This record gives sequence, C-alpha cells and structure tokens, in this order.
Amino acid sequence: MKQLPAALAPPRRVLLGPGPSEVAPSVQGALSHPTLGHLDPWLLAAMDEIRAMLRAALGASSDWTLAASGTGSSGMEAVLANVLEPGDSILVGTCGYFGARIAEIAERHGARVTRAEGEWGRALDPERVRAAAAGKRFQALAVVHAETSTGILQDLAPFRELAGELGALLLVDAVTSLGCVPLDCDAMGIDGLWSCTQKGLSCASGLAPLTLGERARGKVAERARPPSAWYLDLELLTRYWCGEHAYHHTISSNLLYGLHEALRLVLEEGLEPRFERHRRHGRALAAGLEAMGLELLAPEAERMPQLAAVRAPAGLEETRVRRRMLDEHGIEIGGGLGPLKGKLWRIGLMGAGSTPRNVLLALAALRCALAAEGFRPRGDPLEAAGAALVEAP
Ligand SMILES: *Cc1c(COP(=O)(O)O)cnc(C)c1O
Repeated sequence: MKQLPAALAPPRRVLLGPGPSEVAPSVQGALSHPTLGHLDPWLLAAMDEIRAMLRAALGASSDWTLAASGTGSSGMEAVLANVLEPGDSILVGTCGYFGARIAEIAERHGARVTRAEGEWGRALDPERVRAAAAGKRFQALAVVHAETSTGILQDLAPFRELAGELGALLLVDAVTSLGCVPLDCDAMGIDGLWSCTQKGLSCASGLAPLTLGERARGKVAERARPPSAWYLDLELLTRYWCGEHAYHHTISSNLLYGLHEALRLVLEEGLEPRFERHRRHGRALAAGLEAMGLELLAPEAERMPQLAAVRAPAGLEETRVRRRMLDEHGIEIGGGLGPLKGKLWRIGLMGAGSTPRNVLLALAALRCALAAEGFRPRGDPLEAAGAALVEAP
C-alpha cells in the first residue's frame, strides 16, 4: 500500500430514511463500551436482561425470545427456516417489497409458497388472502405488519382469524413496527415474529430480535431434520442464549450493549407514550407534505406513523432531490423499491428520530430541495406541520 488511508471520520447525517434511524446518544455511547467475550458471565447476565426487556416490549411471554446475530432479514430467515420444513405450505400476503422477500426466503428453504398479492400502497384485503387460500392446507400464514416499501400499517386481527381457520401459524414481520406502533404478541396471537435493531429501536443494525410462541416451538420440536440454516438454528441459539450457554457463535457484545440501552429507553419512555409520540409526529409530517401539494401513497387510515411514502411529482428527477437533501442539508431520506423505484420518497420518523425538530427540518429541507428542482409548493408546510404539532392528541 502506497499511502495509508486517513482514519475514518464519518459525516454527521440526520437519518430520516426507512432505516437506519437516528441513534440516541446513550445508545451510541453504549455501543462503544469495552468489548467482552461472548461467554463472559457479566455479558450473559446482560443478555438475560435484554430478553426480559424484549419480552416486555413485544408483549411476548415466550422463553424463546432472543436476538439473532444479523439484520432484520436474518430474523426473517431464522423464523421461516426453523418453523417450515421442506414441503410445508405457507401462505404469504404481499403488498410490497418485504412481503415478497418472505415468499422468496420460504421458497429457498423448500416450502411450497402461495402468494396472495395485494396492491402496492394499499393494505392487504383479508378476503383476497382468504380466497387465495381456498381449498388448500397451510402450516403458516405470513404478513408484514408495517410494509416499509409503501408506508402501509397492516391490521393483524383479520389475519389472526384467518390463520385460526386454516390451522396455520401466524408469522409476522415486525421489522419496522417494534418500538413505533402497538405490538402485543400474546394478545394478538402471533406465533412467530422477527424485527431489527436499526429502525424503531434506534440502535445500530446487526441484531434481529425474534420470538416464537408455544405452538411454533411445538412445530420446531417436531421437525424430522434440523433446519438447513445452521447459523440460525433456533434450538442451538436458545441453548446459547437461555440454556446452558453453550458456545454457538461469537455474538457482538458491543451490539448487545446498544440493544440493551435501546430497549431500556423504550421501556423508560413507556410504550403508549412512545406510540403516541410517533402518531403525533407522523400526522404533522403528513400535514406538511400535503400542504406543499405532495401526495402520500397510502390512504390515511392505512398509513403507519413512523414512515411517510410520498409520491415524487411527475417531471421531477426523484434522485436529484434526495441527493440535494443529503449534500446540501445532510439529511438522508429513502427512495422507492421495486416497481416504485424512481417514483417515491420515503421519510422515516422512527424511534429517537421521531421529534418535532425532525418534522420541521425534513419539511424545510425538502421544500428547499424541491424549489431548487423547479417544483413550486402549493402552501406552507411548516405552518401546517406546526399547527398539527400543537394540536391536542
Ligand atoms: C428493513 C426491513 C426488512 C429487512 O431488514 P434488514 O435489517 O435490512 O435486513 C424486512 N422487513 C421490513 C418490513 C423492513 O422494513
């Protein structure tokens, strides 16, 4: 090497995309605590606290509540690979990019997949999903709670009912919902669920909280063969996390410190106040966007509060606006995925990032970037958002 690169000094950005979200200062600090061995008794005790806090945040009484090493997708793969055996049938409701990922992963693990496809930008219609299931038997039904590609929040109750009718396990992608919107695994009858650390929990990415309830554990126990994914084998992972702490892999103690602090912040704030904070700021952002004459993809009743999917007006180069947000204002927002590529902006207000300041900052910067690209906003976004921010809940 001719010249050694300079030590990294990452820029400070305001992370208002679909994740990673802004990391709270105490979480950022926790991530840099001294590294410990993965079998250190001190770390194992901290992991017990993480499991207890995760169970509280998820409303999950199951012992099989832990965090896989990997991002949200590893949680998705862990649940699917353990619950499904080759030849099992799964019904997947898809109305966006991440529903499609569930189907893809299930297929790779040898499951027979039936896709019940809905419209991108609308919630799934449970009747259409029921119709897609007609006459077939399924071991599992999977849906995405908060479809981050379209900004849709899915009501889970009709799918719990459908899973009951089918005798299927209900599996839920809560990657963008944990820490932002109500989630109660026991009360909602969720059999298996996965999430991530870098969205609603506002930690760095790299761990995937997940839980399997009684019925799903029974299904795993009855497997003829262990899952093909050794690294994500939940029997082995639970033996490390909550059993005899047998070595399985070298988990990152630093990520665990971050997750511990992130969960502590969630429970310290209180679940309901935290959800209300997300609702309030989501409403204010939407009011500001609409005041400018922009259109949200999802109808109001189906929107999640922690992420706004906004249509890019025709004739505007979507990527140029995002680039201006980043270069001129230091703000990251997301673009569209799949068929929505080039057509959408996705603005996230997740976890520590869901603040009045970020609502106003995102709107002011977006107005600026849009004006520079020749778009004339209809009304004043800051006035509309300001009014929504001071409204009684
Ligand atoms: C982000 C996301 C994922 C994937 O998570 P990674 O952490 O990027 O692996 C899965 N499902 C949904 C709904 C998501 O928003």
